[in-house]
Amino acid sequence: MTERVLTGDRVTGKLHLGHYVGSLQNRVILQEQYETFVLLADVQALTTHFEKPDLIRTHLREITLDYLSVGINPDRSTIFVQSMIPEIAELTVLFSMFVTVNVLRHNPTVKSESKNSGLDDMYYGFLGYPVSQAADITFCKATIVPVGEDQLPHLELTRKIVRRFNELYRPILVEPKPLVGDMPRLIGTDGNAKMSKSLGNSIALDSSTEEIAYQIKKATTDPARVHKHDPGHPDICPIYAYHRAFRPNAASEIREGCEQATMGCSACKGLIASTIEQLIQPMRERRSYYAARPRVVDDIIMTGTQRARGIAQETMKEVREAMSLNYF
Ligand code: ATP
Ligand code: MG
Repeated sequence: MTERVLTGDRVTGKLHLGHYVGSLQNRVILQEQYETFVLLADVQALTTHFEKPDLIRTHLREITLDYLSVGINPDRSTIFVQSMIPEIAELTVLFSMFVTVNVLRHNPTVKSESKNSGLDDMYYGFLGYPVSQAADITFCKATIVPVGEDQLPHLELTRKIVRRFNELYRPILVEPKPLVGDMPRLIGTDGNAKMSKSLGNSIALDSSTEEIAYQIKKATTDPARVHKHDPGHPDICPIYAYHRAFRPNAASEIREGCEQATMGCSACKGLIASTIEQLIQPMRERRSYYAARPRVVDDIIMTGTQRARGIAQETMKEVREAMSLNYF
């Protein structure tokens, strides 16, 4: 069977280093080998941002620039808009008939995100978003889904939905496998377990040199380490996590310097700031090329969406037949 890759991001804010190590890096590699689909998840963004459609609108192009800046190649990857594929919504409704509310309520990611989201109650669309994600993945019969660790429960649900559908109706859908990046969950600059666009604890991929320096400077470190001569605990420090992610070969040196109090926090921060600067510099160049050509960017999104729509229509025809919904 030929492999097909699907991934995507909620259109809620700029992409950051967590996305890069969690999934973008893998996408750039996989696109060379496999047919790749990249979803701009604007409907899923509405599950928490339904009062802010303008924010979603702005970020649609910004995130596309993020993709292009890290090296997602529009000739190899189909970038498309979720809300412009009505078949995804249709498939979501059909799947929702055989997914129980209890399964969704007990999903650990739904639980933790609903705590963080600031929503005053549990909304129907939010509770059901993992079902809509199953539709995102299955409409194009993706087999590989590069994601961060928080997405694993959703992938498991998608696999269950596929099995159930295939056994209830006809075996036309394909079970996908998750592919987790080298850093399944990059910690936030505030020490929160996850760097996240919605939590304001991230280093965006379009950061300037000054922004990188500022975010690193204000990042929390081990609170027990007040003076340079106090030994530190690297395992609870976001800066050490960034060393592991972006300077893996020198991470043991950093650990030693911290634990033995031979290296101070500001020197340690300086090293990581310059490594991140080196990583982001070429991204800035690619970004500015496309930012100066908004028509090219729009064309990439429109072409990708048209292509994805064609595939969605084919799958939906098969689904209707399998479910005996083809009356005439
Ligand atoms: P939001 O807070 O709006 O949900 P997010 O930062 O969680 O934003 P998503 O668009 O929900 O980003 O996730 C897109 C992809 O990036 C998912 O595969 C997710 O697992 C991955 N990802 C997001 N944050 C991190 C992180 N800190 N470390 C590793 N992977 C991450
Ligand atoms: Mg998220």
